[in-house]
Amino acid sequence: MAASVATETKIVVVGGGPVGMTVAHALTKAGIDFVLLESRPSIVMAAGASLVMSPIGLRALSQFGVLPAIEKVSSPLSIVKRFNHQGRSIGDAKLFSYLHENHGCASRVIPRQDLMQVLLDALPAEAQSKLLPSKKVSSLENTDDGVIVECTDGTSYKGSLVIGADGAYSAVRKHMAIMGSEKETHDGEQQQQQQQQDKDLSYLTTYRCFWMRFPRLPGINPGDMTEAHGPQATTQYFANEDSAVVAVYERLPQPTNRPPRRYSDEDEAAFVAKWGHLPLNDNPNYQNREGIKVLTLGEAYSHNIQKGFINLEEGVVENWSRGGRVVLVGDAAHKFTPSTGAGCNNGIVDVVVLVNKLHKLFSSASVGTPTSDGSIVTTSNIPESDLAAAFREYQNARFDTVTLGCNLSSRATNNASWGTPLAKFIDLYVLSVDVVLRLFLHWAASKTVLTPVFDFIAGEETVRGKYPWVHKIPQAQKMD
Ligand SMILES: Cc1cc2nc3c(=O)[nH]c(=O)nc-3n(C[C@H](O)[C@H](O)[C@H](O)COP(=O)(O)OP(=O)(O)OC[C@H]3O[C@@H](n4cnc5c(N)ncnc54)[C@H](O)[C@@H]3O)c2cc1C
Repeated sequence: MAASVATETKIVVVGGGPVGMTVAHALTKAGIDFVLLESRPSIVMAAGASLVMSPIGLRALSQFGVLPAIEKVSSPLSIVKRFNHQGRSIGDAKLFSYLHENHGCASRVIPRQDLMQVLLDALPAEAQSKLLPSKKVSSLENTDDGVIVECTDGTSYKGSLVIGADGAYSAVRKHMAIMGSEKETHDGEQQQQQQQQDKDLSYLTTYRCFWMRFPRLPGINPGDMTEAHGPQATTQYFANEDSAVVAVYERLPQPTNRPPRRYSDEDEAAFVAKWGHLPLNDNPNYQNREGIKVLTLGEAYSHNIQKGFINLEEGVVENWSRGGRVVLVGDAAHKFTPSTGAGCNNGIVDVVVLVNKLHKLFSSASVGTPTSDGSIVTTSNIPESDLAAAFREYQNARFDTVTLGCNLSSRATNNASWGTPLAKFIDLYVLSVDVVLRLFLHWAASKTVLTPVFDFIAGEETVRGKYPWVHKIPQAQKMD
């Protein structure tokens, strides 16, 4: 039971990460009332690695007018320098140069906290007041006309629907499965439901990741990106204006879908001792105290200012919604390895598709309903069946794309960590061939251009490349 009288709102968003903040922007633009509950003590925290934002994510965010602010705190990427574990080149990839040419904007590396700050600052004050930190969601309770979301501090919030943007270990996903199993019990399908629930509760983990941030050392240039490939482990290293981040992905002895384990200081020390020799750059201007010219992981570790040691879950959840009351976006619905820099970008595109549908539903339902200031939709009785249908359409629109993206990312991590002899061969002798990369990106472009945009936010198309987008950003006069 709810601990106290629930505060009522249209939509309860759980999770204020980059995808949850994208939801906050989109709902604000759509004029749909919401509250966002975030368990951390503040929306922007000095935590998290850097993210590569690709044209699909940047184009969606451009509709909020935040592209110039993102450009100020991020660095464009062009070439990926690839080495083996001994620091010998295995062929550079002009991946980001081609993506830029194809889709009209550079992929940019941005510290997570800077992206969060940009997203926070760009929200109007009234919307900012709806972001509630220190609100850890503990349970969800179905009512006849909505959902009550309860927090560990005893407060509760009622919404017509809940959007779970609470990441890989989503509490919303967990409760969605429980709500479903209670319902299914009456239908006598317990066993099948239990199997589905288990499947939806956790992702498979094949790799673990140690990442750290360190100051930009002499000889490192903003936008530098390198990878060290080899047996069992691979790195990705990006330099920003002020700092650089490296992440090492190491294959576990066995894939597992056990709950995440916390790594201790001893685990970290053993990890760094094992992989400290991995090269991060080939910059002849860099020289460490011992006169070694290549910056190694071990050397960078001695300068680290932030770090994390986590499991890398992978997978796509089978059911992204439960009835018309609860729906998932971002890492709560699908989790990629970081190798292709696609997890967050895809989460942002989820929001595009979902909020387009909600905007259509809420604005048509509100026809004839006067609002106090002309912007906030106050209708509260959209049939659950309409919401459920919208959620199904949303998942159908996204499922194949994210499944493909998740598989590609998985393969990229496997190739770079030489998971099989074939993977090693592909990594060394196929992916290093420029024409292969161009052909692959030509094929990928045929899918990328299908990426949707917010169809209710008018603006200029600033991201334009060789391959035209199928869905155009609506122009202001056409929307009047
Ligand atoms: C090392 C590394 C590098 C990566 N690089 C890239 C990249 O280059 N490009 C890219 O696109 N993606 C990248 N990713 C993936 C990216 O970080 C995620 O896809 C992205 O953060 C997902 O955003 P999200 O908002 O869905 O989830 P999260 O970022 O996990 O945010 C979820 C939020 O929900 C909150 N929360 C959780 N539980 C509760 C609760 N019970 N109640 C209230 N709030 C709760 C959390 O505190 C958090 O703020 C990388 C990931 C890693 C690990």
